[in-house]
Amino acid sequence: MSLKLDEVSRFSVPLGVRDPLTEIVGLAKRWDLKGRGGAGFPFSQKLLAVAENSSRLVRPSVVVNATESEPLSFKDRFLLTYYLDLVLEGAVLCARALSSSSIYLVTHADVDNSLELVEAVRRFGDATRVKIEVVLTPSALVSGQETSVVAAVNGESRPLPRMQPPRVSISGVKGRPTLLSNAETYARLAQARRIELSGGSHDGTGSLSYLGTVHLKTGESYIVDSDPSISVSDILESLRAPVNDSSIYLVGGYFGRFYRSIDPRLRSALSVPKNSQGVGFGAGLVVEIDRHGCISGEVAFLSRWLSLQSAGQCGPCKKGLPQVADEFEQLVLGGGGDREKILRWTAQIRGRGGCALPDSVCDLLESFFKVAPDEVRVHQSGACQRPYQRQFEELHRDFDWDTASHGV
Ligand code: SF4
Repeated sequence: MSLKLDEVSRFSVPLGVRDPLTEIVGLAKRWDLKGRGGAGFPFSQKLLAVAENSSRLVRPSVVVNATESEPLSFKDRFLLTYYLDLVLEGAVLCARALSSSSIYLVTHADVDNSLELVEAVRRFGDATRVKIEVVLTPSALVSGQETSVVAAVNGESRPLPRMQPPRVSISGVKGRPTLLSNAETYARLAQARRIELSGGSHDGTGSLSYLGTVHLKTGESYIVDSDPSISVSDILESLRAPVNDSSIYLVGGYFGRFYRSIDPRLRSALSVPKNSQGVGFGAGLVVEIDRHGCISGEVAFLSRWLSLQSAGQCGPCKKGLPQVADEFEQLVLGGGGDREKILRWTAQIRGRGGCALPDSVCDLLESFFKVAPDEVRVHQSGACQRPYQRQFEELHRDFDWDTASHGV
């Protein structure tokens, strides 16, 4: 049985569980639930790691990361608006499994209707007799990194990423072991339990759908809740925008990669991991970029914007990212930027930040050079005649997520 979010949210289920840790870990294992924030780490392992580091004297915390730092991704806001109960239900199940009495929901301070959100969370907490605290954090890309989220819960005025270890499963909120996962992951845990309680199973017929945000080059944007057996190509087809040669595709968001239309990974199932020929759906963001416009200009905007998100703590990030963005801009403007130099720098920067931000710029630029090898030559010779369409700039400004639909 495959029930999507809108179907499972219609019925109510008891939250009591007899042997909660065994049952919830078993549930996550049966459904092969992986984190939906981008990293894709097995959720059962995360739960067990927190349980192993906890005791009666050292109670863990449960944190729902609904910060959705990527400016074009809207699935967390969608979940908080339409499926808040499922998100909180998953968090409460985990808190009971871990004997935790501290649950935090962290979201951006500029989220629409934050007062209503706080009130809705309070109502859910009263009904289930658990205390859930809403924590608002600044709207910055790095404030969604897990150590930044912990810093926000700890009340730091500038919640920034910190180097790990220790991992937050050992020392997170107030130094206690902390289960921290993305809002969708908790909603999927609740979804899996509801499917089982309604007689469904994971045995090949059951599946947990994937939430994503899709931006088409026409300017239309959608939230999609997709079966894991379908591909990015299927999603685009269903939106009447089939994969085509006049576009390239950013998949996985700002921590993802660019793909050409002929890339077979666009046609592999969403559930196939990135390192085994999967597309790396990651945070679920897909952007169709129009090749009739200057796609190098679009990438220059992205690399500059990402370089400005640095928290300025690590040298390779603070100094390296602006250098890379400068060089790429030179290349786009026909001012002598050097592709080989950029690739040398990205190799030096990779893996040397305290968080994933520098690697995201490396992945984006390296994959762009692969999907559009002629771009460098055209720009270096000053021959690019295509207009800069400001596709990403407009999306940063304009996405009206109220118009989005879901259910692919
Ligand atoms: S890599 Fe950049 S954003 Fe990440 S912790 Fe270091 S300075 Fe901050």
